[in-house]
Amino acid sequence: MTRTVYVNGEYVPETEAKVSVFDRGFLFADGVYEVTSVLDGKLVDFDGHAKRLERSLNELEMKAPATRDELLEIHRQLVEKNGIVEGLIYLQITRGAPGDRDFAYPAADVPSTLVLFTQNKPGLADNPTAKTGIKVISVPDVRWGRRDIKTVQLLYPSMGKMMAKAAGCDDAWMVEDGKVTEGTSNNAYIVKGGKIITRELSNDILHGITRAAVLKLAREAQMEVEERSFTIEEAQSADEAFFTSASAFVMPVVEIDGVAVGSGTPGPIAARLREIYLDESRKVAI
Ligand code: PLP
Repeated sequence: MTRTVYVNGEYVPETEAKVSVFDRGFLFADGVYEVTSVLDGKLVDFDGHAKRLERSLNELEMKAPATRDELLEIHRQLVEKNGIVEGLIYLQITRGAPGDRDFAYPAADVPSTLVLFTQNKPGLADNPTAKTGIKVISVPDVRWGRRDIKTVQLLYPSMGKMMAKAAGCDDAWMVEDGKVTEGTSNNAYIVKGGKIITRELSNDILHGITRAAVLKLAREAQMEVEERSFTIEEAQSADEAFFTSASAFVMPVVEIDGVAVGSGTPGPIAARLREIYLDESRKVAI
């Protein structure tokens, strides 16, 4: 089926959507993005994503091409036009297409580029992988120093994913100065003695919207949470490991660098958090 996508003010068939070859997203990875999940045809944590988008734009001195309300309307239109019940909405804003290649930012009157498209994922919430868990490898984190900004510079995470696949695994956890930063497209956690441990927020990691929601729900459910970094060795000897992201929610990790975590099967805390997160997300989706 041909999707309807959104490009700079217009809803068009995906085959007719066009962006300039001079677009700075294409030439310089000069762009930011968000991925919002859709459950029951509604947007999960739209405001969390809208706020992080605003922050990413501000950090890069990039113009917002639309208000929060306009973005919400575009998201909703795309959900409707494409009949999405479960899936994802990808949004990208770049510093526009000044008409030539130049390292310096273009003049302020060059409009940003705004693109959104849907990804239909029936069964997203019922993903069978959540019952078996995934395997990760560790790789050095050689990304830039502003990982808190959600930019489209995703080549290294993409390489990490390929290294994981080559090793017969599903994802890579990145390591810097001996400590895990995050997964290629998710935040990393371990569970030890009932305590949920995840790296503290800084410029070293993306401030996951799912992370914020899951930690809030965990605390509300009287679970103990500690925000600190951990090593791969500590993760391998933890009771459980898991990751969070808008597209996978809470996903158990059962093996790290060939070593089984806990029993080598998904643990009860990850399973409980996934359940609580999905229940609450469905309730508050808009
Ligand atoms: N960390 C990185 C590097 C990511 O790319 C992502 C999501 O794409 C996350 C963490 C999880 O963030 P969120 O929960 O907002 O999807």
